[in-house]
Amino acid sequence: MILIVDDNKNNIYSLKKLLESQDFKIDTAESGEEALKKALKNQYSLIILDVQMPGMDGFEVAENFAGYSKTKDIPIIFLSAVNTEKQFITKGYESGGIDYVTKPIDPEILLLKVKTFYNLQENNLALKKNHQSLEMEVKGRRESQVVMKSEIDHFHLMLEALPQIAFTLDHNGNVTFVNARWFDYSEDSNVFPETHVDDKDIRKEFERSQKKQTPLELEIRIRELRSGDYRYHLLRMTPVFDNEKIKNWVGTFTDIEAQKRMEKEKDEFLSIASHELKTPLTSIKAYVQLMDRKFNFQQDSSEKAYMIKTLGQIEKLNSLITDLLDVSKIENGKLKINKKLTNLEDVIQNSVDAIVQTYEGRVKIDRHGQKPDMLIPLDEIRIEQVISNFLSNAIKYSPDSHQVIVSTFTDDENVRVSVTDFGIGIPDYKQPLVFQKFYRVEESSVQFQGLGIGLFICAEIIAQHDGTIGVSSEPGEGSTFYFTLPLN
Ligand code: ADP
Repeated sequence: MILIVDDNKNNIYSLKKLLESQDFKIDTAESGEEALKKALKNQYSLIILDVQMPGMDGFEVAENFAGYSKTKDIPIIFLSAVNTEKQFITKGYESGGIDYVTKPIDPEILLLKVKTFYNLQENNLALKKNHQSLEMEVKGRRESQVVMKSEIDHFHLMLEALPQIAFTLDHNGNVTFVNARWFDYSEDSNVFPETHVDDKDIRKEFERSQKKQTPLELEIRIRELRSGDYRYHLLRMTPVFDNEKIKNWVGTFTDIEAQKRMEKEKDEFLSIASHELKTPLTSIKAYVQLMDRKFNFQQDSSEKAYMIKTLGQIEKLNSLITDLLDVSKIENGKLKINKKLTNLEDVIQNSVDAIVQTYEGRVKIDRHGQKPDMLIPLDEIRIEQVISNFLSNAIKYSPDSHQVIVSTFTDDENVRVSVTDFGIGIPDYKQPLVFQKFYRVEESSVQFQGLGIGLFICAEIIAQHDGTIGVSSEPGEGSTFYFTLPLN
């Protein structure tokens, strides 16, 4: 908008018309005082100022404009009878654009000057606005940088307080922070602690996780600088995502040496105890069988019944000890599998017959699916052990149902054997855990006896056959345990 200041209404009128004809927006003031008031209130791009006015003349008005930050940069075109006062004008109004037009006014010259000043000022204003918004942005960025830095400092402080070794990596895997504990295991913040030769390589494992964009969890031995000893640690590296891209990684090494040592001692104890128990039990079994033969009790006598019960209990004890021995063999990597081409259907049938015999017809085992009457490379005794385990669990954990289904399914590459029961079932999130050593589902562990190692051994046997093992189950409805074996 342009402000015209003149004490002569006629002059104002004709100037206004002239400028409005060129699409300028116009405001007017009839005195210097009014002009000042308006200029402080509104936003003008140009002021056309009559020099000769009663009261405050044009120069005084310009001087006043120069004193306010809001008005000091508005360009002014003076309208004067003569142009001798130019120097004075410039002195009073240094920063704004100044020009003058002498009366009588030549409309063409005035319009030319108005247009030039107007455009100049509009550009200036736009530039100023840009500058202001840039400044705001820079300020905003500076502020968020400060906030971010204080957040990072806080985060690092927290990592320092952890009892673990803690570190962060950028998205490329370069170390960006390590806490003080790092230096118990490495002299350089950029170098990972030295790992045991028999353990996995941290960098390689990390690269694999980086590719898959998944967290890394690893049990690993790292060398303590002070003692030179390797200590077991649980290494965890978790990616931090920003818009589905990895921004950085947060890692910890937790010392699990004490747990590992205890676990080792427990395994050693189990191994020794089960070996020591096995020898006298074998003798007891042999003597009881001898006695059975020697006394030759009548089939329906109570003595014969006691004898059968004693042998049954010896058999149970024997299988418990055998399972414990298997666990220690697995721990030492000594569970051997002897694969031979064997008819799988025969193995299934043997397991089913043995179970039916043990439960003396108290269970009903149905057979579904096409029978895998084919030769497959497998360890007959161990696979029978797996199926028997599935079957006895199916019966044990189904107190109100006596029905079990054994099904088989074969495709081009694998054969799948599953055992379904209609028993108590297993909650969803506990299903993968049942294959872990000594794991028992809490809800059922009081009611049903067991050691929680049967499925652990099954999983190891199937893994050694390059097969898969799993379970699907619904609490209160039943469970299906299955394994697959490759045909070759
Ligand atoms: P155990 O039966 O001696 O406890 P297992 O290793 O055979 O040990 O089984 C581990 C756990 O899995 C069991 O304690 C039980 O909680 C659960 N489980 C196994 N089979 C079944 C099943 N058929 N139905 C429900 N729960 C089962």
